[in-house]
Amino acid sequence: MRRPFISANWKMNKTIEETEAFINSFLPMVKDITDVDILIAPPFTSLSAASGLLKSSNVILASQNIYHEEKGAYTGEISPDMLKSAGCTSVIIGHSERRQYFSETDEVVNRKISTARNNGLEVILCIGESLEEREENRTFEVLDKQLTGSLKSLSLDGITIAYEPIWAIGTGKTATKEQANEAHGYIREWLGINKEDSDPVRILYGGSVKPDNIEELMSQPYVDGALVGGASLKPESFAALVTGSIK
Ligand code: PEP
Repeated sequence: MRRPFISANWKMNKTIEETEAFINSFLPMVKDITDVDILIAPPFTSLSAASGLLKSSNVILASQNIYHEEKGAYTGEISPDMLKSAGCTSVIIGHSERRQYFSETDEVVNRKISTARNNGLEVILCIGESLEEREENRTFEVLDKQLTGSLKSLSLDGITIAYEPIWAIGTGKTATKEQANEAHGYIREWLGINKEDSDPVRILYGGSVKPDNIEELMSQPYVDGALVGGASLKPESFAALVTGSIK
């Protein structure tokens, strides 16, 4: 059985003070949970403060992005060393909002993953189809293209996949448990890790996950956890997701 993995993507939400207030109230709610991996990805400006508060806790600190070069004249970008010195051990790469609003291609995503892994950061790689692509029955074709481009020449070591259908992100429209499991099954097969219960590679579902649908999603054999936006912004709700993920 793979260990459940519940991740918060705060996107462009929370100041340093709001981050501190969240963590101070969230940590006591989950301090006794030992059988779930819990991750929070605050905005860059909150990383250092979050890192101080999360030290010696059971919560992993991640960033929401990284640049694919290690240093230099790249105004406004962030390097692996900067993330590590701010206390991050993980990074989310290829979120659909990065692909949509910041033109991140699979090739860029591939370079970012490579830089992150070369610098010892764990990666959550996001992939997923648009509504139009699903309606045209092209979901697997899209996943195939994203996996091929994003993982080119890379090993799966240190990588978690997040399947996030774009039509379900922030829309309140969750994929059914069958849709999620089917896509995860396809991804497992693509990765060559099909049905291996002992295989450590985990696939998270993302898209309007809430405390009232987490158990149903986690009941599926190929759903190993969740990447959560909106419902991760309140400590009570995120703690309920963590508890609800235990299979
Ligand atoms: C996300 O942004 O990764 C996400 C899944 O958002 P939400 O949970 O709000 O749909």
